[in-house]
Amino acid sequence: MTAVAEGLDMAAIGRLLRQRYADTAGQVGRLRAQTASVLGAHDAGSGDAADAGTMALETAEQAMVTTALQEQLVRLQAALDRLDAGTLGVCGRCGEQVPLTRLQVMPWATHCVPCQSIVDRYR
Ligand SMILES: [Zn+2]
Repeated sequence: MTAVAEGLDMAAIGRLLRQRYADTAGQVGRLRAQTASVLGAHDAGSGDAADAGTMALETAEQAMVTTALQEQLVRLQAALDRLDAGTLGVCGRCGEQVPLTRLQVMPWATHCVPCQSIVDRYR
C-alpha cells in the first residue's frame, strides 16, 4: 500500500481516532458535570419560576449537545472497533478502500464518497 499523503497511513488514522475519542469523551464528561451542577442548583430551590425556566432551557440545550457528542462517541467507538478488526477504511457498500484523506477528516466514515451519497439518499 502506498501512502496517499505524507505521514498519512492507517496508524496515523488510528492515532487521530483515539485522540478524537479522548477529546469527545472529555467534552461529554465536562457537559455532564455542568448539567449536574445546574440541576443541583435548581433542586436547591433558590431561584424563582423564571430562573427555573431559564435553567430548564439551558439544561435542554446542554442535553442536545451531550446527545450529539454521545452519538459521535458511538461512531468513534465503532470506528475503533473496526480499526482493531482491521476493517477500518473499507467501504461498507462496495468494499473498496476509503481514501485516507477522507478518513483523516472523518475517521468514522463507513463508506467511500460515492457510496455515502447513495446511502444518504436512501436513508
Ligand atoms: Zn464504496
